[in-house]
Amino acid sequence: MNNNAKKRIVVKVGSNVLTRPNGKLDVTRMSAIVDQIAWLRQNGYEVILVSSGSIASGRSELKVNKKLGSVEQRQLFSAVGQAKLISLYYDLFREYNIHAGQVLTMKESFGTRQEYLNQRACMEVMLENGVIPIVNENDTVSVTELMFTDNDELSGLIASMMGAETLIILSNVDGIYNADKQVIREIRTGESVTQHIKTEKSSFGRGGMLTKCHIARQVAEEGISVIIANGKKENILIQLIKNPAETLHTRFLPNEEGISNVKKWIAHSSSFAKGEVRINTQAQKALLGKEATSLLMVGVTGIAGDFEEGDIIHIINENGEHIAIGRSGYSSEEARRLIGEHNVRPLVHYNYLYIE
Ligand code: GLU
Repeated sequence: MNNNAKKRIVVKVGSNVLTRPNGKLDVTRMSAIVDQIAWLRQNGYEVILVSSGSIASGRSELKVNKKLGSVEQRQLFSAVGQAKLISLYYDLFREYNIHAGQVLTMKESFGTRQEYLNQRACMEVMLENGVIPIVNENDTVSVTELMFTDNDELSGLIASMMGAETLIILSNVDGIYNADKQVIREIRTGESVTQHIKTEKSSFGRGGMLTKCHIARQVAEEGISVIIANGKKENILIQLIKNPAETLHTRFLPNEEGISNVKKWIAHSSSFAKGEVRINTQAQKALLGKEATSLLMVGVTGIAGDFEEGDIIHIINENGEHIAIGRSGYSSEEARRLIGEHNVRPLVHYNYLYIE
């Protein structure tokens, strides 16, 4: 990790922060967020902005007469809304002489390591040249079944990919509440809090607290500090940096050990898995033990699906529970031939193995 990466922050702004109760884009709020990001930049932080709001802003722009299906609505509203959103950001950042650039992405664009590295290179070159990447899902052409759960998931992936120090998820609540309706200030890795979380979704975005929590936990596990805070509070970003103890928010403490870049990619790639490998109890013990261990063919008892060498595969135990995900060293055809064999190279090398 270079020194820049130490002070790199990903800020995710949800649709609920950027829209008024009537569903219209809240330009005053956008402007306040831009002011705060400009402050972060002046104070030595590199910022990547993941902004929702394209669909909400398109919806408030267009009057649609006939009843459109939900996919058509998303395509239409996001096409118009994203143009409006980015143009507003562009103008607001320009007031500070800051250049902003648009990055529209899709889940498929993270499918292979090569595509992943390509996106990382694109955002690195923007940051190196002082341009703020403003990221959103390409809702206009994303295929519904293959979409990100929401922009929380996307922001987690971006924070992980870009080696950010902190991910700040701005929503319209102060943080995660416990059963006594108090904001939980700190959540350690491995600590369970999901039992307290209400499952309803926010009104304008796709996400909910449960996904936020799940993503936050996974990203913190990778060594990134994750903050959930209220984007409608005045100067929230500045307060979080200047005066964190006095500012209401939930912080997921990062796992001090962190994980390698390749493992980060693997950790976020589970939806691209092409196959499933069943392993025996000894192999499971070895993988879950303290030592870093590769998955050997001798511990494999079954293989499902068709995959090539280099594809992502799920690893399941004898009870069919997912225990890990990794990059296969063999094609499914070769691996099937080698089931139970000793003295052949591992199916998944430990550098490419992520325990779930
Ligand atoms: N990408 C969607 C938008 O900009 C938001 C997805 C979400 O709700 O997180 O409108």
